[in-house]
Amino acid sequence: MLNQLTISELNAKLTRREVSARETTQACLDQIQRVDGKIHAFLSHDDADALAQADAADKAIAAGEQKPLLGVPIAVKDVLAVKGQPLNCASKILGNFISPYDATAIEKLKAAGAIVFGRLNMDEFAMGSSTENSAFGPTKNPWDITRIPGGSSGGSAAAVAADECIASLGSDTGGSIRQPAALCGCVGLKPTYGRISRYGLVAFASSLDQIGPFTKDVRDAATLLGVMSGVDPRDSTSVPQPVPDYTRALTGDIRGMKLGLPKEYMIGGLDAEVKTSVDEAVKKFQALGAEIVEISLPHTDYAVATYYIIATAEASANLARFDGIRYGARVEGADPIELYAKTRGAGFGSEVKRRIILGTYVLSSGYHDAYYLHAQKVRTLIRNDFLKAFEKVDAIVTPTTPTAAFKIGEKSDDPLQMYLSDIFTISCNLAGICGVSVPCGFTKNPKLPVGLQLLGQPFGEESLLKLAHAYEQATPWHKEKTVI
Ligand code: GLN
Repeated sequence: MLNQLTISELNAKLTRREVSARETTQACLDQIQRVDGKIHAFLSHDDADALAQADAADKAIAAGEQKPLLGVPIAVKDVLAVKGQPLNCASKILGNFISPYDATAIEKLKAAGAIVFGRLNMDEFAMGSSTENSAFGPTKNPWDITRIPGGSSGGSAAAVAADECIASLGSDTGGSIRQPAALCGCVGLKPTYGRISRYGLVAFASSLDQIGPFTKDVRDAATLLGVMSGVDPRDSTSVPQPVPDYTRALTGDIRGMKLGLPKEYMIGGLDAEVKTSVDEAVKKFQALGAEIVEISLPHTDYAVATYYIIATAEASANLARFDGIRYGARVEGADPIELYAKTRGAGFGSEVKRRIILGTYVLSSGYHDAYYLHAQKVRTLIRNDFLKAFEKVDAIVTPTTPTAAFKIGEKSDDPLQMYLSDIFTISCNLAGICGVSVPCGFTKNPKLPVGLQLLGQPFGEESLLKLAHAYEQATPWHKEKTVI
């Protein structure tokens, strides 16, 4: 089925004119029609627009054009600006907002020929780990629809796992690409901070946010990373680092590479089946010729607390712009202050309110130094732990999540338990390094995907992808399909 193909498979078939972009796009739309009532990965999709883009791609292919993503349908998390399409961040507060411009990452996808379609469900403003915080209802895990797909990019992961698109985009502030990728059995990459421009990504925590791809294999992640990377004058935090052809790193030869195993990551809450899968993966790396080195990341215990100070502080500032005046929904009031309060009271969900309150508190005078400043210092210690480890190893290997996908509702009344589901992914954002999650097995009963996380040094995506690809090609996990 065309909708099951990877980007590289599809590209080859399109170039040889064995299939058309229209057929492929139609296959994705048909799959959405068939399964999305059960999964709810999409908030909306404009089929006529998608097919019109497909026809334009077919014309370009007929004229002999060759581009890495020509005719490839890619769906987008509802936090990225796509010109002429709704942009809601799965929140009520944006009302009927339509984006007037393209995010830089989207511009680059379009320039590479992609068919950019659909708005994917997420936790409201990317705050959450289960996609239950969407104002438009949860997304379900395609492997078991009684379970969460992870979050906050749950729609992006579920749509790829259920073959409703060829690939998708998400954003990762504390794990929101890697964690749902792990729980849905796909590849999810969080690039180094500054690798991809954040222009047109609605800000949650500006010093932590990065855009990244969800794909069916590592090669496709390398392709999308190459297309989207690069410095951008519209994002002063994007870095003028050359963009290599990441697919050239995928040689399959990882002999002599060093992989660090952090002793702090074998925590009590780690599920036994997840641990077994990760142990097996480590053995596989050894069999492929990599050397395993025990390392220490001594400040790991402070990561979750540090994150929830820094991320909420930044969020409280970033979300101040949603005031009922500038964008979307408005609830009228007797004066501007009442208008703000009523609009924000009605427009934001409870997790977003919790974060704004927490963030405002840690920044308030009298508490700023005790919380925010302190957290910034701990953040530096966490980053230094990683930089020190990368003097000895090429990458670090960990589980992506402590458990496989949990039940819908299981943690939604307990924010602290929810926050702990990101325990392995959060440090990477604090340190500004890169990370990827690849499928590394399944739990038995029920059968649910397990993810392996590889962490790499700043701008070390080539080593990361090389390792992930060699592992993937030596294991069967990424080939397995959901039965949805
Ligand atoms: N789950 C984390 C949070 O709720 C991370 C979210 C993200 O990466 N956007 O903040």
